[in-house]
Amino acid sequence: MEVNLISDTITKPSTAMLEAMQQARVGDDVFKDDPTVNQLEETLADYFGMEAALFFPSGTMANQTAIKIHTQPGEQLICDHYSHVFNYEGGGVSFNSGVSCKLLEGDQGRITARQIEPAIHSPEFYHSPPTRLVCLENTTNKGGGAFYDFEEIKKIRALCDQHELGLHLDGARLWNALVETQESPLDYGKQFDTISVCFSKGLGCPVGSALVGSKELMNKALRIRKVFGGGMRQSGYLAAAALFALEHHFSDLKKDHIKAKALESALKKCSFVSEVVPVHTNILIFSLAEELNAQQFVQDMAARKIRLLSLGEGKIRLVTHRDYTDEQHHYFLEILKQFYS
Ligand SMILES: *Cc1c(COP(=O)(O)O)cnc(C)c1O
Repeated sequence: MEVNLISDTITKPSTAMLEAMQQARVGDDVFKDDPTVNQLEETLADYFGMEAALFFPSGTMANQTAIKIHTQPGEQLICDHYSHVFNYEGGGVSFNSGVSCKLLEGDQGRITARQIEPAIHSPEFYHSPPTRLVCLENTTNKGGGAFYDFEEIKKIRALCDQHELGLHLDGARLWNALVETQESPLDYGKQFDTISVCFSKGLGCPVGSALVGSKELMNKALRIRKVFGGGMRQSGYLAAAALFALEHHFSDLKKDHIKAKALESALKKCSFVSEVVPVHTNILIFSLAEELNAQQFVQDMAARKIRLLSLGEGKIRLVTHRDYTDEQHHYFLEILKQFYS
Protein backbone atom coordinates (compact mmCIF):
# COMPACT_ATOMS: atom_id res chain seq x y z
CA MET A 1 0.00 0.00 0.00
CA GLU A 2 1.25 3.45 -0.91
CA VAL A 3 -0.47 6.52 0.48
CA ASN A 4 0.03 9.39 -1.95
CA LEU A 5 -1.10 12.75 -0.61
CA ILE A 6 1.14 15.04 -2.67
CA SER A 7 -1.91 16.32 -4.60
CA ASP A 8 -5.49 15.53 -5.61
CA THR A 9 -4.25 15.60 -9.23
CA ILE A 10 -2.86 12.07 -8.79
CA THR A 11 -6.38 10.58 -8.90
CA LYS A 12 -6.95 8.06 -11.70
CA PRO A 13 -10.20 7.42 -13.55
CA SER A 14 -12.40 4.70 -12.08
CA THR A 15 -13.56 1.75 -14.19
CA ALA A 16 -17.01 3.34 -14.50
CA MET A 17 -15.45 6.60 -15.70
CA LEU A 18 -13.30 4.75 -18.25
CA GLU A 19 -16.43 3.01 -19.53
CA ALA A 20 -18.24 6.34 -19.89
CA MET A 21 -15.22 7.65 -21.83
CA GLN A 22 -15.13 4.61 -24.08
CA GLN A 23 -18.79 5.05 -24.98
CA ALA A 24 -18.52 8.76 -25.78
CA ARG A 25 -19.68 10.01 -29.16
CA VAL A 26 -16.86 12.11 -30.58
CA GLY A 27 -15.96 14.34 -33.51
CA ASP A 28 -13.37 16.97 -34.37
CA ASP A 29 -13.70 19.71 -31.77
CA VAL A 30 -11.52 22.15 -33.73
CA PHE A 31 -14.46 22.17 -36.17
CA LYS A 32 -16.79 22.32 -33.12
CA ASP A 33 -18.04 18.89 -34.26
CA ASP A 34 -17.54 16.91 -31.07
CA PRO A 35 -21.01 16.30 -29.57
CA THR A 36 -19.69 15.34 -26.12
CA VAL A 37 -17.49 18.44 -25.83
CA ASN A 38 -20.44 20.55 -26.97
CA GLN A 39 -22.62 18.85 -24.36
CA LEU A 40 -20.08 19.50 -21.60
CA GLU A 41 -19.74 23.16 -22.59
CA GLU A 42 -23.53 23.63 -22.58
CA THR A 43 -23.84 21.81 -19.26
CA LEU A 44 -21.22 24.06 -17.68
CA ALA A 45 -22.70 27.26 -19.06
CA ASP A 46 -26.10 26.25 -17.61
CA TYR A 47 -24.52 25.17 -14.33
CA PHE A 48 -23.12 28.66 -13.76
CA GLY A 49 -25.96 30.47 -15.51
CA MET A 50 -23.49 31.97 -17.97
CA GLU A 51 -23.74 32.12 -21.78
CA ALA A 52 -20.91 29.90 -22.89
CA ALA A 53 -18.06 27.63 -21.85
CA LEU A 54 -14.90 26.30 -23.48
CA PHE A 55 -13.09 23.03 -22.72
CA PHE A 56 -9.32 23.27 -22.08
CA PRO A 57 -6.46 20.78 -21.69
CA SER A 58 -5.30 22.41 -18.43
CA GLY A 59 -6.31 24.88 -15.76
CA THR A 60 -3.19 26.90 -16.49
CA MET A 61 -4.25 27.38 -20.10
CA ALA A 62 -7.79 28.33 -19.03
CA ASN A 63 -6.46 30.95 -16.59
CA GLN A 64 -3.88 32.28 -19.04
CA THR A 65 -6.54 32.59 -21.72
CA ALA A 66 -8.81 34.47 -19.32
CA ILE A 67 -6.02 36.90 -18.46
CA LYS A 68 -5.23 37.39 -22.15
CA ILE A 69 -8.84 38.21 -23.09
CA HIS A 70 -9.27 40.67 -20.22
CA THR A 71 -6.04 42.65 -20.66
CA GLN A 72 -3.65 44.46 -23.01
CA PRO A 73 0.18 44.43 -22.68
CA GLY A 74 1.43 46.88 -20.08
CA GLU A 75 -1.66 46.61 -17.92
CA GLN A 76 -1.82 45.18 -14.43
CA LEU A 77 -3.90 42.62 -12.58
CA ILE A 78 -4.44 42.39 -8.84
CA CYS A 79 -4.16 39.05 -7.01
CA ASP A 80 -3.05 37.50 -3.74
CA HIS A 81 0.71 36.86 -3.38
CA TYR A 82 -0.05 33.14 -2.99
CA SER A 83 -2.13 32.93 -6.18
CA HIS A 84 -1.60 30.15 -8.70
CA VAL A 85 -1.64 32.56 -11.66
CA PHE A 86 1.38 34.35 -10.17
CA ASN A 87 3.31 31.44 -8.60
CA TYR A 88 2.66 28.31 -10.61
CA GLU A 89 1.90 29.20 -14.22
CA GLY A 90 5.49 29.63 -15.33
CA GLY A 91 5.38 33.43 -15.50
CA GLY A 92 2.67 33.15 -18.15
CA VAL A 93 1.04 36.40 -17.05
CA SER A 94 4.04 38.33 -18.43
CA PHE A 95 5.01 35.79 -21.13
CA ASN A 96 1.56 35.48 -22.71
CA SER A 97 -0.11 38.77 -21.89
CA GLY A 98 2.69 41.25 -21.10
CA VAL A 99 0.85 42.02 -17.87
CA SER A 100 2.24 42.60 -14.36
CA CYS A 101 0.76 41.44 -11.06
CA LYS A 102 0.05 43.70 -8.10
CA LEU A 103 0.38 41.30 -5.20
CA LEU A 104 -1.65 41.62 -2.01
CA GLU A 105 -1.05 39.73 1.22
CA GLY A 106 -4.39 38.19 2.04
CA ASP A 107 -5.63 35.66 4.55
CA GLN A 108 -4.79 32.13 3.39
CA GLY A 109 -4.83 33.36 -0.20
CA ARG A 110 -8.04 35.39 0.09
CA ILE A 111 -8.08 39.14 -0.51
CA THR A 112 -10.71 41.72 0.44
CA ALA A 113 -12.34 44.69 -1.32
CA ARG A 114 -10.77 46.90 1.32
CA GLN A 115 -7.28 45.65 0.34
CA ILE A 116 -7.94 45.86 -3.38
CA GLU A 117 -9.27 49.42 -3.52
CA PRO A 118 -6.01 51.27 -2.69
CA ALA A 119 -4.10 48.95 -5.09
CA ILE A 120 -6.13 50.14 -8.11
CA HIS A 121 -4.23 52.68 -10.20
CA SER A 122 -6.24 55.64 -11.36
CA PRO A 123 -6.45 55.74 -15.18
CA GLU A 124 -5.40 59.44 -15.10
CA PHE A 125 -2.11 58.66 -13.34
CA TYR A 126 -0.25 57.65 -16.49
CA HIS A 127 3.00 56.85 -14.67
CA SER A 128 1.61 53.57 -13.33
CA PRO A 129 0.40 50.49 -15.20
CA PRO A 130 -3.37 50.72 -15.67
CA THR A 131 -5.25 48.22 -13.51
CA ARG A 132 -7.54 46.08 -15.65
CA LEU A 133 -8.37 42.85 -13.84
CA VAL A 134 -8.80 41.27 -10.41
CA CYS A 135 -8.10 37.52 -10.08
CA LEU A 136 -9.49 35.60 -7.11
CA GLU A 137 -8.81 31.95 -6.27
CA ASN A 138 -11.45 29.72 -4.65
CA THR A 139 -10.52 27.48 -2.96
CA THR A 140 -6.97 28.66 -2.49
CA ASN A 141 -4.13 26.27 -3.25
CA LYS A 142 -0.99 27.69 -1.58
CA GLY A 143 -3.34 29.31 0.95
CA GLY A 144 -4.39 25.85 2.18
CA GLY A 145 -7.82 25.15 0.67
CA ALA A 146 -9.59 28.19 2.16
CA PHE A 147 -12.80 29.46 0.56
CA TYR A 148 -14.28 32.95 0.30
CA ASP A 149 -17.15 34.42 2.26
CA PHE A 150 -19.62 35.10 -0.56
CA GLU A 151 -20.45 38.56 0.84
CA GLU A 152 -16.80 39.54 0.29
CA ILE A 153 -17.00 38.41 -3.33
CA LYS A 154 -20.03 40.68 -3.84
CA LYS A 155 -18.11 43.63 -2.39
CA ILE A 156 -15.20 42.93 -4.74
CA ARG A 157 -17.62 42.73 -7.71
CA ALA A 158 -19.10 46.13 -6.77
CA LEU A 159 -15.60 47.60 -6.56
CA CYS A 160 -14.69 46.15 -9.97
CA ASP A 161 -17.87 47.63 -11.48
CA GLN A 162 -17.06 51.02 -9.99
CA HIS A 163 -13.56 50.99 -11.54
CA GLU A 164 -14.49 49.14 -14.74
CA LEU A 165 -12.26 46.16 -13.95
CA GLY A 166 -12.75 42.56 -15.06
CA LEU A 167 -13.15 39.90 -12.36
CA HIS A 168 -11.78 36.41 -13.01
CA LEU A 169 -12.14 33.42 -10.71
CA ASP A 170 -9.50 30.72 -10.69
CA GLY A 171 -11.93 28.06 -9.58
CA ALA A 172 -9.69 25.02 -10.09
CA ARG A 173 -11.12 23.74 -6.79
CA LEU A 174 -14.37 25.72 -6.77
CA TRP A 175 -16.13 22.33 -6.50
CA ASN A 176 -14.68 21.89 -3.02
CA ALA A 177 -16.01 25.30 -1.93
CA LEU A 178 -19.45 24.54 -3.41
CA VAL A 179 -19.67 21.17 -1.65
CA GLU A 180 -18.56 22.64 1.67
CA THR A 181 -20.72 25.80 1.65
CA GLN A 182 -23.74 24.49 -0.30
CA GLU A 183 -23.60 27.74 -2.28
CA SER A 184 -25.17 27.85 -5.74
CA PRO A 185 -22.92 27.93 -8.79
CA LEU A 186 -25.51 30.29 -10.32
CA ASP A 187 -24.56 32.91 -7.72
CA TYR A 188 -20.91 32.58 -8.78
CA GLY A 189 -21.92 33.02 -12.40
CA LYS A 190 -23.54 36.35 -11.53
CA GLN A 191 -20.46 37.80 -9.82
CA PHE A 192 -17.60 36.87 -12.17
CA ASP A 193 -16.83 37.74 -15.79
CA THR A 194 -14.94 34.48 -16.25
CA ILE A 195 -14.54 31.32 -14.14
CA SER A 196 -12.02 28.54 -14.71
CA VAL A 197 -12.61 25.06 -13.27
CA CYS A 198 -10.53 21.84 -13.22
CA PHE A 199 -11.82 18.29 -13.63
CA SER A 200 -8.43 16.65 -13.11
CA LYS A 201 -8.18 17.23 -9.36
CA GLY A 202 -10.68 16.09 -6.74
CA LEU A 203 -13.23 15.13 -9.39
CA GLY A 204 -10.86 12.42 -10.57
CA CYS A 205 -10.63 12.98 -14.34
CA PRO A 206 -7.37 12.22 -16.14
CA VAL A 207 -7.28 15.57 -17.99
CA GLY A 208 -9.48 18.59 -18.46
CA SER A 209 -10.45 22.11 -17.43
CA ALA A 210 -12.92 24.70 -18.65
CA LEU A 211 -13.49 28.42 -18.86
CA VAL A 212 -16.99 29.89 -18.51
CA GLY A 213 -18.22 33.40 -19.40
CA SER A 214 -20.20 35.50 -21.86
CA LYS A 215 -20.51 34.50 -25.54
CA GLU A 216 -18.42 37.49 -26.51
CA LEU A 217 -15.57 36.57 -24.13
CA MET A 218 -15.69 32.87 -25.04
CA ASN A 219 -15.44 33.76 -28.74
CA LYS A 220 -12.25 35.63 -27.92
CA ALA A 221 -11.11 32.71 -25.75
CA LEU A 222 -11.66 30.29 -28.63
CA ARG A 223 -9.10 32.16 -30.73
CA ILE A 224 -6.60 32.49 -27.84
CA ARG A 225 -6.94 28.78 -27.03
CA LYS A 226 -6.04 28.02 -30.65
CA VAL A 227 -3.03 30.36 -30.51
CA PHE A 228 -1.86 28.68 -27.26
CA GLY A 229 -2.04 25.29 -29.00
CA GLY A 230 -5.06 24.09 -27.03
CA GLY A 231 -7.36 23.20 -29.93
CA MET A 232 -8.03 19.48 -29.52
CA ARG A 233 -9.64 16.95 -31.85
CA GLN A 234 -11.65 13.98 -30.44
CA SER A 235 -11.54 15.49 -26.95
CA GLY A 236 -15.06 14.18 -26.34
CA TYR A 237 -13.42 11.18 -24.62
CA LEU A 238 -12.09 13.62 -22.02
CA ALA A 239 -15.29 15.65 -21.88
CA ALA A 240 -17.18 12.40 -21.17
CA ALA A 241 -14.99 11.91 -18.09
CA ALA A 242 -15.84 15.44 -16.93
CA LEU A 243 -19.58 14.89 -17.42
CA PHE A 244 -19.33 11.60 -15.52
CA ALA A 245 -17.41 13.26 -12.68
CA LEU A 246 -19.91 16.10 -12.32
CA GLU A 247 -22.72 13.59 -11.97
CA HIS A 248 -21.06 10.88 -9.88
CA HIS A 249 -18.00 12.28 -8.10
CA PHE A 250 -18.97 15.82 -7.07
CA SER A 251 -20.67 15.04 -3.75
CA ASP A 252 -17.85 12.63 -2.75
CA LEU A 253 -15.59 15.66 -2.23
CA LYS A 254 -17.16 16.07 1.20
CA LYS A 255 -15.51 12.79 2.26
CA ASP A 256 -12.09 14.24 1.38
CA HIS A 257 -12.84 17.25 3.59
CA ILE A 258 -13.80 15.07 6.55
CA LYS A 259 -10.54 13.11 6.21
CA ALA A 260 -8.49 16.31 6.03
CA LYS A 261 -10.18 17.56 9.22
CA ALA A 262 -9.33 14.30 11.01
CA LEU A 263 -5.70 14.63 9.92
CA GLU A 264 -5.68 18.22 11.17
CA SER A 265 -6.76 17.06 14.65
CA ALA A 266 -4.16 14.29 14.64
CA LEU A 267 -1.31 16.52 13.45
CA LYS A 268 -2.08 19.14 16.08
CA LYS A 269 -1.23 16.51 18.71
CA CYS A 270 2.09 15.56 17.10
CA SER A 271 5.30 16.76 18.73
CA PHE A 272 7.03 17.28 15.36
CA VAL A 273 4.44 19.87 14.26
CA SER A 274 4.73 23.52 15.27
CA GLU A 275 1.68 24.87 13.46
CA VAL A 276 -1.23 23.60 11.36
CA VAL A 277 -2.83 26.06 8.93
CA PRO A 278 -6.61 25.91 9.56
CA VAL A 279 -8.22 23.27 7.33
CA HIS A 280 -11.32 24.29 5.35
CA THR A 281 -11.55 21.68 2.59
CA ASN A 282 -9.10 19.02 1.32
CA ILE A 283 -5.72 20.79 1.63
CA LEU A 284 -3.66 20.69 4.80
CA ILE A 285 -0.46 22.68 5.30
CA PHE A 286 1.61 22.38 8.44
CA SER A 287 4.96 23.64 9.71
CA LEU A 288 7.55 21.38 11.28
CA ALA A 289 9.14 22.05 14.65
CA GLU A 290 12.23 24.18 14.04
CA GLU A 291 14.88 21.51 14.65
CA LEU A 292 13.44 19.29 11.91
CA ASN A 293 14.57 19.20 8.30
CA ALA A 294 11.61 19.12 5.90
CA GLN A 295 13.39 17.03 3.25
CA GLN A 296 14.38 14.46 5.87
CA PHE A 297 10.84 14.40 7.25
CA VAL A 298 9.36 13.79 3.80
CA GLN A 299 11.86 10.94 3.31
CA ASP A 300 11.02 9.41 6.71
CA MET A 301 7.33 9.46 5.82
CA ALA A 302 8.06 8.00 2.37
CA ALA A 303 9.87 5.12 4.13
CA ARG A 304 6.53 4.45 5.85
CA LYS A 305 4.83 4.53 2.41
CA ILE A 306 3.29 7.97 2.92
CA ARG A 307 4.08 10.60 0.30
CA LEU A 308 3.79 14.26 1.31
CA LEU A 309 4.99 17.43 -0.40
CA SER A 310 7.59 19.82 0.97
CA LEU A 311 6.68 23.44 0.16
CA GLY A 312 9.96 24.91 1.44
CA GLU A 313 10.44 27.04 4.57
CA GLY A 314 9.74 23.98 6.73
CA LYS A 315 6.18 23.72 5.44
CA ILE A 316 4.60 20.42 4.39
CA ARG A 317 1.45 20.00 2.32
CA LEU A 318 -0.92 17.10 2.00
CA VAL A 319 -4.09 16.89 -0.08
CA THR A 320 -6.84 14.33 0.47
CA HIS A 321 -8.63 12.91 -2.58
CA ARG A 322 -10.92 10.13 -3.80
CA ASP A 323 -8.08 7.60 -4.24
CA TYR A 324 -7.06 8.07 -0.59
CA THR A 325 -9.12 5.21 0.80
CA ASP A 326 -10.55 4.69 4.28
CA GLU A 327 -7.98 1.91 4.78
CA GLN A 328 -5.11 4.26 3.87
CA HIS A 329 -6.59 6.93 6.12
CA HIS A 330 -6.65 4.60 9.14
CA TYR A 331 -3.10 3.48 8.41
CA PHE A 332 -1.87 7.11 8.27
CA LEU A 333 -3.69 8.02 11.51
CA GLU A 334 -2.03 5.02 13.20
CA ILE A 335 1.40 6.18 12.01
CA LEU A 336 0.72 9.67 13.36
CA LYS A 337 -0.34 8.24 16.75
CA GLN A 338 3.22 6.96 17.17
CA PHE A 339 4.33 10.61 17.27
CA TYR A 340 1.87 11.89 19.88
CA SER A 341 3.74 13.31 22.81
C1 LIG B 1 -4.23 23.10 -10.22
C2 LIG B 1 -4.57 24.53 -10.26
C3 LIG B 1 -4.65 25.21 -11.47
C4 LIG B 1 -4.43 24.58 -12.83
O1 LIG B 1 -3.40 23.72 -12.89
P1 LIG B 1 -3.13 22.75 -14.14
O2 LIG B 1 -2.13 21.84 -13.59
O3 LIG B 1 -2.65 23.59 -15.24
O4 LIG B 1 -4.42 22.10 -14.49
C5 LIG B 1 -5.01 26.54 -11.43
N1 LIG B 1 -5.25 27.15 -10.27
C6 LIG B 1 -5.18 26.53 -9.09
C7 LIG B 1 -5.51 27.27 -7.84
C8 LIG B 1 -4.83 25.20 -9.04
O5 LIG B 1 -4.76 24.58 -7.86
